[in-house]
Amino acid sequence: MAFKSGFVAIVGRPNVGKSTLLNALVGQKIAIMSNRPQTTRNRIRGVRTTETAQMIFIDTPGVHTPHHRLGEVMVDMALQTLGEVDLILFVVDVTSPVHAAEQEIIKQLEGVRTPVFLVINKTDAVDKGLILERIAAFQALRSFDEYVPVSALRQEQTDLLASLIEERLPEGPKYYPDDMVTDYPESFIISEIVREKVLMLTREEVPHSVMVAIEHMERRASDTLHVHATIYTERDSQKGILIGKQGQMLKRVGEMARRELEGLLGNRIYLELWVKVKRDWRNRPALLRQFGFDG
Ligand code: GDP
Ligand code: MG
Repeated sequence: MAFKSGFVAIVGRPNVGKSTLLNALVGQKIAIMSNRPQTTRNRIRGVRTTETAQMIFIDTPGVHTPHHRLGEVMVDMALQTLGEVDLILFVVDVTSPVHAAEQEIIKQLEGVRTPVFLVINKTDAVDKGLILERIAAFQALRSFDEYVPVSALRQEQTDLLASLIEERLPEGPKYYPDDMVTDYPESFIISEIVREKVLMLTREEVPHSVMVAIEHMERRASDTLHVHATIYTERDSQKGILIGKQGQMLKRVGEMARRELEGLLGNRIYLELWVKVKRDWRNRPALLRQFGFDG
């Protein structure tokens, strides 16, 4: 049988479990997870390679109504992506009814020819009757190419999902080497993990606008990575919260990020964190570009 390969976009409103699903499919934590919406701002690629196929996943920021310039950039990226991939996974959360944002996504998908699977996630949290009810509710809005209930968190039915994906992929080459799970550089993974810890530990007090820039990275021994990162906030008050009393908060962020990164990258990590204020960067195109959004 010929080798198959292709690109798969993951869409869905925030918090439905897109990153968790991606990680389950790829078998390693590469997209950050959190219980707060919209922690995934970039397109994160994960690669799943087996004997018979290679699928490259794109975790899009999702289609939603833009509130500022960054939002517009994200919507353009998402829509452009959908037309270019081989398959779209539309992930929904079985624990909540059809959301207005999901009706909006369905509307956007009308203009796209790519096949779409409805992935009904979080099945571990409800009983079967509700799963069927949700499927019927989505089916009333649009017919999908497959309906796949999964629990991304417990990795239930995710292998079935992978085989259904494989069926839809065209014959193609192995684009990436076997051992590659992401094409994002280590520095990106490090900044995302630091950002995740900031959001987790500061709760609502430091907004999602927080940015982490890796200023310097140096391998001083074969297994030791020294990293100097700056966390950018929008206001002095946020900077204060992030540093905490006698630097306690920043210390905790650094400690949690370091531990996770050591497990993830298999290196000893020395993580030096700084906090700086950079005002209103979300509405400034030049700054967006500097942070990697080319809009
Ligand atoms: P995203 O915003 O769509 O990328 O969602 P995340 O992957 O960050 O997940 C959002 C929240 O839902 C996190 O707290 C996850 O642990 C949780 N979650 C994801 N998948 C499942 C699942 O299959 N079952 C349950 N019970 N929770 C899940
Ligand atoms: Mg996510």
